[in-house]
Amino acid sequence: AWRVCTEHPKTVLALPEVQLGLIPGAGGTQRLPRAVGQQAALDMILTGKNVRARKAAQIGLVHDLVHPAILRDIAVQRARELGAGAKRRNTSARARTARTLLLDDNPFGRSIVLRQAREMTLKKTRGHYPAPLAALEAVAAGYHGREHGFAEDARLFGEMAETPVSKELIFLFFATTALKKDSGVRADDGTPVPVPAHDVVSLGVLGAGFMGAGIAAVAAQAGIPVRLKDSGLERVGKGLAGVRDVLHERLQKRQVTRQQYDDQMLLVGGTIDYTGFGGTDLVIEAVFEEVAVKHTVVREVEALVPAHAIIASNTSTIPIARIAEASARPERVIGMHFFSPVHKMPLLEVIVTPRTAADVTATAVAFGKRLGKTVIVVNDAPGFYVNRILAPYINEAGRLLDIGAAIEAIDRAMLEFGFPVGPITLLDEVGLDIAGKSGVIFHAAFGDRLAPSQSLRAVVEAGRLGRKGKSGFYHYDEVGKKGDVDPSVYPLLPTGSQRHDVPIVEIQRQLSLVMVNEAARCLEEGIIHGPRDGDVGAVFGIGFPAFRGGPFRYIDATGPASVVQHLEDLEFRNPGRFVACELLVQMARKGERFYKARDL
Ligand code: NAD
Repeated sequence: AWRVCTEHPKTVLALPEVQLGLIPGAGGTQRLPRAVGQQAALDMILTGKNVRARKAAQIGLVHDLVHPAILRDIAVQRARELGAGAKRRNTSARARTARTLLLDDNPFGRSIVLRQAREMTLKKTRGHYPAPLAALEAVAAGYHGREHGFAEDARLFGEMAETPVSKELIFLFFATTALKKDSGVRADDGTPVPVPAHDVVSLGVLGAGFMGAGIAAVAAQAGIPVRLKDSGLERVGKGLAGVRDVLHERLQKRQVTRQQYDDQMLLVGGTIDYTGFGGTDLVIEAVFEEVAVKHTVVREVEALVPAHAIIASNTSTIPIARIAEASARPERVIGMHFFSPVHKMPLLEVIVTPRTAADVTATAVAFGKRLGKTVIVVNDAPGFYVNRILAPYINEAGRLLDIGAAIEAIDRAMLEFGFPVGPITLLDEVGLDIAGKSGVIFHAAFGDRLAPSQSLRAVVEAGRLGRKGKSGFYHYDEVGKKGDVDPSVYPLLPTGSQRHDVPIVEIQRQLSLVMVNEAARCLEEGIIHGPRDGDVGAVFGIGFPAFRGGPFRYIDATGPASVVQHLEDLEFRNPGRFVACELLVQMARKGERFYKARDL
């Protein structure tokens, strides 16, 4: 964007393809062209959303769209016009409707808009994020005079910049920025090693199911040619339809042009016999979660691809080293664990075995970044990192059901804590059959501390599948929209229909501490490279509340000694499930923290 300013008003010229953002503040909104509705402006301020220049021109935020070739000429021309006292050109197409006159142009209407915005903000943030409310306060102050507005704006900005929430969000910003520069490779002593990545010119995806189609779609979005292989034509067709759905959504939202959409669709080809795999640099397998099937496809594909090709697995539970057993080149086998839905979830967990070659890791990491993902590299262990810390959390939610806590009470408690969905809703979303199966795997890997809850076992045995089967802990309508708790699930649970109140803090403490304790255990066992990766993985992989910074930042904020004390208390009441990990005990004893003060 190019701004041509005289004293006031301003003319804003924009290049057609740019995105424009709006910085909150009384001054900001006061200086908006009057044609921009308060609601549209508040929406941009509160969500931090960018608008495309074309939309900005439509709503009156931008006066002219200018081709780059003539930008300078037009800018100078406008400046001269304004300098000569010409009135600002208002090319906004936005009509002054009765609604805008009522809501935007009088104090009463504005106060209604502001009140609604406040209520919406509180509903969305549950009061955890103070800055959007402060932005609204600053906007409101602007209506009592420009100078007053600016002063309040500055004061509130100063306050907001110093809140603990701001510190955590800034931490996450710097952590993800640092990860963008990280090759993901570490020396034996843990220091980062810069290793060049290979180009991935062509990608092969095995399994055109839910995940395979999602991976193919994000690769096509990034301009990478993809071969999608499944075992039957019908399944390939279904996979291609899945790719189309993802890409088409972006066309509908006008994030891409029709031409770009067509080009992206043309990048994806389907096959049932590995045609076109001869030149692939990277193959990601997303076939059924069965070792035998994974072994078969690894053997088959390895015989066809070039020797430098990387074979990655999207498995969620099978150790990568186990999958690599079928490979003649185990050093070129790696885990690339995408989260569902692939096009929406920002994290990619890359899993390395002791045999994975450094260039393979660097290439998988670079490829993930090219797909727009935030990438963490973890070592091979059951559940890797993200699902490993999720497992005890979900399990404890089931244990609470076992002792008679109400479904909605558990979900509400964790929503209040800051998670985007409650754990019981999450179980329904993931699929109760899948959750049941991974529960068995975690039990086998970690023993009785992760013994599955009786409640989960009972609902799985009753044939409930969760949202996909439209029958789980909650009601679902024909299109799968979630309703209230389904009371018919209670008689299946050990304590039956009798539910009793478990205090919200108890629920929050039990579930959050079991998760952060597991995260610390992963650090202790060397599964993650450091607390930073653990925090980013939890926030971007499972929605650990961003305003708390992540499990390690949360432990630091609470104090390791206090975390250990609460864990001991929980352990006393629930033997075997809350033993504080040694790392935390040591830190509590020595008064240490994961992050130094200078790390923010
Ligand atoms: P899915 O059942 O939707 O898809 C699996 C596909 O693999 C099917 O289309 C099947 O026909 C195909 N397939 C089976 N054998 C094949 C073979 N020999 N050659 C080619 N194709 C074959 O399953 P999904 O949910 O997409 O999961 C796939 C993998 O991704 C699993 O390993 C799963 O653990 C993992 N994963 C799933 C999720 C999730 O939320 N669904 C998340 C992360 C990882």
